[in-house]
Amino acid sequence: MVADPPKADPKGLVAVEATANGGLVLGSAPDRDETAKGCCRSRDQVRSCLRANLLVLLTVVAVVAGVALGLGVSVAGGAAARSPARLVAFGFPGELLLRLLKMIILPLVVCSLVGGAASLDPGSLGRLGAWALLFFLVTTLLASALGVGLALALKPGAGFTAINASVGATDGVQNTGKKEVLDSFLDLVRNIFPSNLVSATFRSYATKYEERRLNTAMAQELNATMVQSEVESMNILGLVVFAIIFGVALRKLGPEGELLIRFFNSFNDATMILVSWIMWYAPVGILFLVASKIVERENVGELFVNLGKYILCCLLGHAIHGLLVLPLIYFVFTRRNPYRFLWGIMTPLATAFGTSSSSATLPLMMKCVEEKNGVARHISRFILPIGATVNMDGAALFQCVAAVFIAQLNGLPLDLVKIITILVTATASSVGAAGIPAGGVLTLAIILEAVNLPVKDISFIFAVDWLVDRSCTIINVEGDAFGAGLLQSYVDRMKLQDPEPESTQVKSEVPLNPLPASMEEGNPLLKQYRGPAGDAVACEKESVM
Ligand code: ASP
Repeated sequence: MVADPPKADPKGLVAVEATANGGLVLGSAPDRDETAKGCCRSRDQVRSCLRANLLVLLTVVAVVAGVALGLGVSVAGGAAARSPARLVAFGFPGELLLRLLKMIILPLVVCSLVGGAASLDPGSLGRLGAWALLFFLVTTLLASALGVGLALALKPGAGFTAINASVGATDGVQNTGKKEVLDSFLDLVRNIFPSNLVSATFRSYATKYEERRLNTAMAQELNATMVQSEVESMNILGLVVFAIIFGVALRKLGPEGELLIRFFNSFNDATMILVSWIMWYAPVGILFLVASKIVERENVGELFVNLGKYILCCLLGHAIHGLLVLPLIYFVFTRRNPYRFLWGIMTPLATAFGTSSSSATLPLMMKCVEEKNGVARHISRFILPIGATVNMDGAALFQCVAAVFIAQLNGLPLDLVKIITILVTATASSVGAAGIPAGGVLTLAIILEAVNLPVKDISFIFAVDWLVDRSCTIINVEGDAFGAGLLQSYVDRMKLQDPEPESTQVKSEVPLNPLPASMEEGNPLLKQYRGPAGDAVACEKESVM
């Protein structure tokens, strides 16, 4: 018997056919269609995935390219590349990025906090604030403990060969004079309550002592006089506190405060649009920021030889805290993938690496946390500015490593009381550290003084801070972002338990019913429910991942 030929298929039953490019496709036509569709689908998927992550990829590439360019120019250009004029010109695109980001900080912090505080009823504001502060405190203490533990285990300061004295000198050690630990804490409180709001936008308090020659009856005497002076650096802490209190007061005003709340909200929205434009310039700026920092350094090799163990200790600590501790805490409380969360904030993390500034990273962080990780606006805009100001896990960690390193360097033993003092003062002084490059080194003196370690040795820490500060800033901002993610999850959970919870609702004290629909649409207090794309309730209902 001859077997029947396979049933004819109108599109052709032949299983082997030549393709346009000369290849052979096996299988029936429907199969082939499926395969082709599958290919197209996966190609489309790859394309849309690339498009969705283009900025992230560009920023990561910028960091790597910056390192390569910096090393290349350093080797090829030699000392000539380090002439001041050339350095300034080479780093100019990076300087531009920093200027753009700094320009945004003031309106962003003030408007987002006024709007954020006004959008939450005092009860939920207190509860969210308390949870956030608890998270910040616990993670900073964990980071400090990790720093001390690693430094005690790896002993970066033991057997340290005294390095070139110029290392410290070239990096400009701050003369802390006779400033006491108490002075530093009083300055912190003074900064919380600025006496002049306008000057707080560009100046902070910093006590210093000046030596003055006094003519006494017998002879001239040198006397240290305390001078309460101000330094050129924005007092973000004061502005944060004022903005929160002002937002609460506006909410208390009820209908009369609504106009001003709307003003701050739309100011904030416009600022965020500026941020989305700046974001596309970030890769270029980061590339040149990183490259110029590498070109600027003359003795990179020597620093690595002498301070390699200290650098390793800090980087290892930051890696453990950023890749294990914080993600683990996030996972335990949310049961969500922390690494997907991290992927969503990759651009701000790269920006933190490039700029070494939590404050400068804040605008991009707000945007990504809201748009990529689904954190509601009223949470991110309330928590992130506070986090960028007071939560510095990376700083606390490196300060602890630095304190133990300096103790080992000088052969001074650290007993349990001293270790606990280091942990507590590092946590407290990281709150006082400004979110600017080298902000943490400046408050390191507080810890060293608290445990009687020589402050002059900060010069060693300064010498490598241009590198350590980068990983430190990444961890500082990562901690803030995870804090926002955890709060979002807390709010979601509260909502599931009670769909109309007082604690998580963003509600107006303005009576809503009498308002016509058109006015409700414009109510800034209601607007807080909208997602980044303006889709009502989207952010609130959306899961964090
Ligand atoms: N550069 C860090 C930041 O901006 C502060 C520090 O030096 O620790 O977060």
